[in-house]
Amino acid sequence: MIYGNTDGIKRHILDMLENLYSIKNYDFIDNAILEAIVKVSADYNREIGVAINRNGKVLAISIGSSGLVSAINVGKGERSLSGVRFIHTHPNASSMLSEADLSVLRNNVLDAIAAVGISSNGDINGFTVAYIDGSGAELYHTQDINTSDALKKIIEAEKRYRASVSQTKANKDEIERAILVSVDLGAEQHELNLVELKELAKTAGAQVVGALTQSRSKPDNRYILGKGKLEELKLLIQNSGANLVIMDEELSGLQQRNLEEELGIKVIDRSGLILDIFASRATSLEGMLQVELAQLKYNLPRLIGMGGDMGRFRNGIGMRGPGEKKLELDRRRIKEQINDLERRIEKLGKERDLRRKNRFSQPSVALVGYTNAGKSTLMNLLSRSDVLAEDKLFATLDPVTRKVYAAEKKFYLLTDTVGFIRKLPHQFIEAFKSTLEEAVYADVLVHVMDASNPNLFNQYKVVCEVLESIGAGNKPMINVYNKMDKVNSNELTVPVISGVYISAKTGQGIEELKKEIISKLNLL
Ligand code: GDP
Ligand code: MG
Repeated sequence: MIYGNTDGIKRHILDMLENLYSIKNYDFIDNAILEAIVKVSADYNREIGVAINRNGKVLAISIGSSGLVSAINVGKGERSLSGVRFIHTHPNASSMLSEADLSVLRNNVLDAIAAVGISSNGDINGFTVAYIDGSGAELYHTQDINTSDALKKIIEAEKRYRASVSQTKANKDEIERAILVSVDLGAEQHELNLVELKELAKTAGAQVVGALTQSRSKPDNRYILGKGKLEELKLLIQNSGANLVIMDEELSGLQQRNLEEELGIKVIDRSGLILDIFASRATSLEGMLQVELAQLKYNLPRLIGMGGDMGRFRNGIGMRGPGEKKLELDRRRIKEQINDLERRIEKLGKERDLRRKNRFSQPSVALVGYTNAGKSTLMNLLSRSDVLAEDKLFATLDPVTRKVYAAEKKFYLLTDTVGFIRKLPHQFIEAFKSTLEEAVYADVLVHVMDASNPNLFNQYKVVCEVLESIGAGNKPMINVYNKMDKVNSNELTVPVISGVYISAKTGQGIEELKKEIISKLNLL
């Protein structure tokens, strides 16, 4: 289907345009598509537009500027951008974006809108891309639309957009008040799991207003809990004003639906919670795609139970992140999306391999550690506090890798990694594999621990187990006790492991850590 005014366009040209739908865009726009629309646009002196989603799929092709609006009627993104970018031609004109173009960008909360200027001889004379910046738009002029920057800027734009949305919504949106529910099946780890679940809930931004445990030999098929406990839970919800139940047990789609119907509030399980945390923290394109993939895989088997009613509890924890717009009910389409994402992530993984080979001789350090230990804070501190450190991201690297100088011309690459969590479902490990692998290829691991966490030793063990499982168990490692501003060293619950004591917040101990890193790398 070609949108807009197709009058006077030859049949074979329309067919040719139709065929563009089958081309995947691995760049901002595929070059073959670009060439085709520029040619047709110049020949007919009409604007041609292409709407592309984050998976690189062509959603719509339109002719004429009137076609533009109908083609990209994507609706408003509430928490994030709509996930659609729109590239259109300006025949016989420069690539300058008009106010109309920019209002299309804003009204549809597009990822980006781009114009291709075409000279009278049919040559491209430049590109202009606009990204949403709060309520306005930020413009970039470029000679080559397919520099990787064009795609990366979407992520920056999305962060700004989310920040501006959450600011305006913060007052309106009530905080999520969660009740934690678990079934004690007699497992040794049960207590620990609960403690951890509580922390995860807090990390996700929920306020924990109650907890309930049932001892059973086996979870109930329909409701996980027995009848009596279910009534108790209802009462607890009423009394605490909770609007979210977080279940420690893995829920099937049917169980989730049964519980939501019975309780009248949103119910999620541990995996859903973990995904939510990852979704709100993913910063790189690769990370966001990985989260989206994990979300789709997680949701696919649950669709049956949702019974076409996915829209009911769409906001907040359990529904956030880059994948939130993609939770359509069509299983086949979701499978296609999963395949697409896997291909894109694979491609990014290959690029990553290549980068890794290119920087083969460069010393590298990976920050590993439990979620919320302070890895990203430390990353910022190490790469910024250093006078010689580049404040910007090292151009060709993933946004989570930075160059840190130890002295003039002596630097190492520092990579932040995704947080580790107990019982990380195996499909997540699969989805985040390429990111986790950064740890395998690093010369030295810096294991960041939250020294103020009462559960410190268990978190330490979880991280070691994950490292072991990805084949990074024997790397040279520096143990770092972070958040020492909050505790006394003699209160620590892990006296056994030697390490460096720091606070990424106050900067305490950082010089010692730097020395330790440099010496482990044999850098100077
Ligand atoms: P990550 O998940 O390991 O990347 O952890 P983050 O760097 O995102 O930090 C998690 C939380 O801990 C944030 O709220 C930080 O501000 C906080 N944090 C990090 N380092 C310190 C520290 O040394 N002291 C204190 N008090 N808080 C810290
Ligand atoms: Mg982090």
